[in-house]
Amino acid sequence: MSRQSAQASRGAVGEAYAPAKRSLGQNFLIDANVAAKIVARLGITEADTVIEIGPGRGALTGHILAAGPRACLALEKDRELAARLPVAHAGVHPALVDALRLDWRRLDRLPGVKLIGNLPYNIASPLLWDICAGSALFGRGVFMVQHEVAVRLCAPPGGRQYGALTAWTAAFARLEYCFKVPPTVFRPQPKVDSAVVAVTPRPAEERPEDPEALSWLLKRLFSLRRKQLAGILKPYWQDGLPEACDALGIGPRDRPEVLSPPQLTALSKLLKTRRTS
Ligand code: SAM
Repeated sequence: MSRQSAQASRGAVGEAYAPAKRSLGQNFLIDANVAAKIVARLGITEADTVIEIGPGRGALTGHILAAGPRACLALEKDRELAARLPVAHAGVHPALVDALRLDWRRLDRLPGVKLIGNLPYNIASPLLWDICAGSALFGRGVFMVQHEVAVRLCAPPGGRQYGALTAWTAAFARLEYCFKVPPTVFRPQPKVDSAVVAVTPRPAEERPEDPEALSWLLKRLFSLRRKQLAGILKPYWQDGLPEACDALGIGPRDRPEVLSPPQLTALSKLLKTRRTS
């Protein structure tokens, strides 16, 4: 083990940490400059409550606390890491929690709360799916994810990268690709690049009224993304599809990937009335 990685695997009290767990996506950030750059994107003020998802050994936590928020909560699934976090970083409030099992609607009891996390690769997509749809009132989120996922999250309609995750998250939030992060700044090193994305919820009037209908449509459309709308929707919509498409500014022969998030939301509403009538 190099001197740098030996230091990275020790806590503030000098006791060695357990080896990183692959099952929990534990690739720990060891570059303080990158950590500071990520935290700076959140724009923490003294009035903010910050929730960190997956604090691990505290690479981001120290920078969050240094920015002086009103409170810093940290949700960690690993029992050892949750217990050791406040020893190394006084002032943080850790909770032993599986972030995937949280009801993110509860976050709206803390309007303006800011979210941050170097997310485990294996849960980043379902987690961001849930957070964006669940909470309308968080102030801002800054997340590090696998680079490929960041590109998908921020993709415009019309390309291969645009899919159900893109359209879903974009319906509820504005997403911004911030910067790329190489594997060399982690221990253990992942095999792929990472990237940071910033997320801001859309105001209530822009969010889909019926998320369940949108989710239903996106899953159907993008599981058959090479097919045309008319073919995919045929089992649910036999007559009047061309006219409905026309009103939405789309064509029945279009492929799902060319539809914008507002068009998909509008289509999901129309389709819901047909499925339920
Ligand atoms: N923030 C640290 C850093 O940047 O070095 C750790 C990042 S590491 C990529 C992901 C962290 O998320 C690990 O500490 C892991 O234990 C934790 N984690 C994994 N799955 C989780 C879950 N479902 N809920 C909460 N934390 C989780």
